[in-house]
Amino acid sequence: MINDVDLKKLKSIGISHSRKATWSCRKKFWYTINNWYNPSSSVTRNAYFGNLVHHLAELVLPNYKAENHNITFYHHLCREYDDRNAKDLTSVDPNDLEKDKGLAISVFMVFVEMYFSENENVLSKLKKSYRLLKSELYLKRQKVGKHVYNIKIDQVLQKYDDKKIYLLDFKCKSQIDEYNLLKLLSFEQQLFLYAKGFEARYQKKVAGIYQLLIRKPDLRMCKKDNNDFATFIKRVAKDVEEKPDHYFKPLFVFISDKMMETFTQEENALMNEIYTAIEQGESAFYKNTQMCLKPFTCDFIDACANGGDTGLLLKHF
Ligand code: SF4
Repeated sequence: MINDVDLKKLKSIGISHSRKATWSCRKKFWYTINNWYNPSSSVTRNAYFGNLVHHLAELVLPNYKAENHNITFYHHLCREYDDRNAKDLTSVDPNDLEKDKGLAISVFMVFVEMYFSENENVLSKLKKSYRLLKSELYLKRQKVGKHVYNIKIDQVLQKYDDKKIYLLDFKCKSQIDEYNLLKLLSFEQQLFLYAKGFEARYQKKVAGIYQLLIRKPDLRMCKKDNNDFATFIKRVAKDVEEKPDHYFKPLFVFISDKMMETFTQEENALMNEIYTAIEQGESAFYKNTQMCLKPFTCDFIDACANGGDTGLLLKHF
């Protein structure tokens, strides 16, 4: 069986939002705070697409060079990502990884063209209205209220006209429910935590948050592509160019004091509950079987099915 978590250590090194999100099933949360993972599942293909787009955006947008805007260069950046994360990618078929890489490169190439375009479009408008202050800002061990967190912000922006600070978060999804996602944005704990963390570190108020939705294309490599990677990328890119509103959707919410106050109260209540459960030990971490197959099959399903024989089914990070 797994060991008890060192609560004091966890409180001092901080908790990330993704770990906290697994609290929906307390057993899953217990596995993750113990740094266990299932070696047979690791990364999902949708997560891989999203990670690549984030990786490309982080490296390319702040230092864009027109001479690098080609498939070879972006492919090289994606391979660097693969090399760094080789351990997590072993369970995915390399052919599937290559196809998802093609999708990420196609979408990102059109993104860059629109973002830096002189013509007005949804992305160039964003670029022209805001100065990019920081890309991939990592706030390690950041105290927010009573608790310590590890926070990663995709972009910090300053609006040219009102000089106020805004945060931007890229969210890659295969299915986009724009109507409900916009509502969700007004109480998205993750984004409010980012804003609160930024304010605590820099003593500057965050006026609002953008979430830039990027859709994963559902196109697949087929006969038309003659098994040629570059042909596939160009075909997908053409589809993205023809339907930019389908692929790129910026959502926006202003942050009010009332919203921040509500977030702070809810966050404190949740963290107190989490730390109290940790103090009580593993038996406080019961299973939520509603989460086993939603939104994907849980990484720990084998361990739970096997009565928690973690030594056989799980490995330590
Ligand atoms: S398999 Fe189900 S019960 Fe077990 S950790 Fe995952 S979500 Fe929780």
